[in-house]
Amino acid sequence: MLKIAFHPIYKHPLPEGHRFPMLKYELLPEQLLYEGTCTKANFFEPTLTEEKDILKVHTSKYYNHLKNLTLDPKAVRKIGFPLSDTLVKREIIIADGTIKASEFALKYGIAMNIAGGTHHAYSNRGGGFCMLNDQAIGARYLQGKKLADKILIVDLDVHQGNGTAEIFQNDPSVFTFSMHGKSNYPFKKEQSDLDIALEDHCDDATYLSILKDILPKLIQSEKPDFMYYLCGVDVIASDKLGKLGLTVEGCKERDRFVLQTCKDQNIPVMCSMGGGYSPDIKIIIEAHANTFRLAQDLFF
Ligand SMILES: [Zn+2]
Repeated sequence: MLKIAFHPIYKHPLPEGHRFPMLKYELLPEQLLYEGTCTKANFFEPTLTEEKDILKVHTSKYYNHLKNLTLDPKAVRKIGFPLSDTLVKREIIIADGTIKASEFALKYGIAMNIAGGTHHAYSNRGGGFCMLNDQAIGARYLQGKKLADKILIVDLDVHQGNGTAEIFQNDPSVFTFSMHGKSNYPFKKEQSDLDIALEDHCDDATYLSILKDILPKLIQSEKPDFMYYLCGVDVIASDKLGKLGLTVEGCKERDRFVLQTCKDQNIPVMCSMGGGYSPDIKIIIEAHANTFRLAQDLFF
């Protein structure tokens, strides 16, 4: 059964006028239920991540400031959210969604989180709407429990996974692969184990040929026993924060290829949703829903 982490707190609104679209967290589960891709049984409600699991990735100094809302204003500005108890709690719950979805992925081959992909969170600071790095927390959790040994993080959000790259910089047990827009945020990029920086307006054919060439080779050389997939849909041409030129169909083919590869190679995969900022919410929902539809079609 496809298990999907979702908690009502995911929908918590930001102050009026904030440009980060929270509406998709509300509309996506509704769409999946409405069209019959999922039933209520597919969803599970995560709880608070245990502090010890967060501290395997983030420094206690940073985490305590976050929790107590005592980060300095400059650090808060970098996150881009006005911090509140609820928004911090939201990220702590999202990380638990990723942990539990990782365990479900071991059982069923795949599992997802209707949020997460908070890859701009470093070990000691937040950034770009991210406070805690959910997939990094999931990876260290699995390794700590001896549930995975070598982990591959495939980050196909249009923005570089700078926080993830920093966290695993000196950790050969987690291979970080980021394919992103060259001229996009973050402007100062970190070094992942493999970075592919794409030119503006990169089209479906160029994007897919690079991905289809690289991913199988990576799996062959790294031999991961678990994979995280950050399936942001901000690679689509209409995205207001992305600069690439993919179509919704091209984005779906990207997801199909990644998920089919995991299935064929028997590598459990956990998917976090990541970005998607097209002005037309219908396009965002359609592109994200495609990932869930494919998961159902290919695995169950
Ligand atoms: Zn993004």
